[in-house]
Amino acid sequence: MFEKIIYYSGINYLYKKLFQRPHIICVGYHSVRPEALAEVPYSHLVVNTRDFENQLEYLKNSGYKFISIKDLKSLKRIDDKYILVYFDDGFKDVVDYALPILKKYEIRGTVFVVTDYTSGKSNPWNEKNTFMTWGDIRENLNNLDFQSHTVSHRKLSKLDEEDIMKELTLPREVIMKETGEEVFAISYPHSSFNKRIQELAIEQDYDITIGNGRGLNFDLGKHLKKIPTSKMSNINDFKVRTGILYLLNNTIKRK
Ligand SMILES: [Zn+2]
Repeated sequence: MFEKIIYYSGINYLYKKLFQRPHIICVGYHSVRPEALAEVPYSHLVVNTRDFENQLEYLKNSGYKFISIKDLKSLKRIDDKYILVYFDDGFKDVVDYALPILKKYEIRGTVFVVTDYTSGKSNPWNEKNTFMTWGDIRENLNNLDFQSHTVSHRKLSKLDEEDIMKELTLPREVIMKETGEEVFAISYPHSSFNKRIQELAIEQDYDITIGNGRGLNFDLGKHLKKIPTSKMSNINDFKVRTGILYLLNNTIKRK
């Protein structure tokens, strides 16, 4: 509702046209599926393929540059409008349904995998929405980057320091062993973080952490905010979310 009011007031349009300076947006997805297959557990996290493509098309036409996580890591300054497209949890439907669309737009996406789920050790979902296996991941290394969403997907802010350390360090070893790829980025499960977790992530040599609150990133630091998407994101909501929404939200909350 808030999104609709902002959209139809025209304030989002004016903000995008007149005031916006170079920035990075990390747009976070989970599942992408055709509408007919969207009824799965946690279906509020499913974006259907048509909406997904409309969102990418909108970003492209708005002059955003899609950046891979490796290019983001080596970016020296924010001199343009960049988008990182990423997927949390490592659902199989990302390679089945999102990847063909990513290829069409020449976008290299990042998947943040939960190493316990990927290894089949603990799967809290039913078989209607499965996770990628290491085989799926190795098959797609040419098109996607794979980084860490921890071992177990627990809220890091609820864990003691020893467990936090395991969640930070083990995925790096496992993903490296299974894919040969360096792990330098983490997406916090449930966007759960605090100052100590941020410090530990830096101590453990993470160059990029995602999920440090919601919003656009105007400064190039290691701790990036995200813009979440969900089933509800129609294209107008999406324009507002990637526009002025979180700036307004933060301003209103601070008062
Ligand atoms: Zn997650």
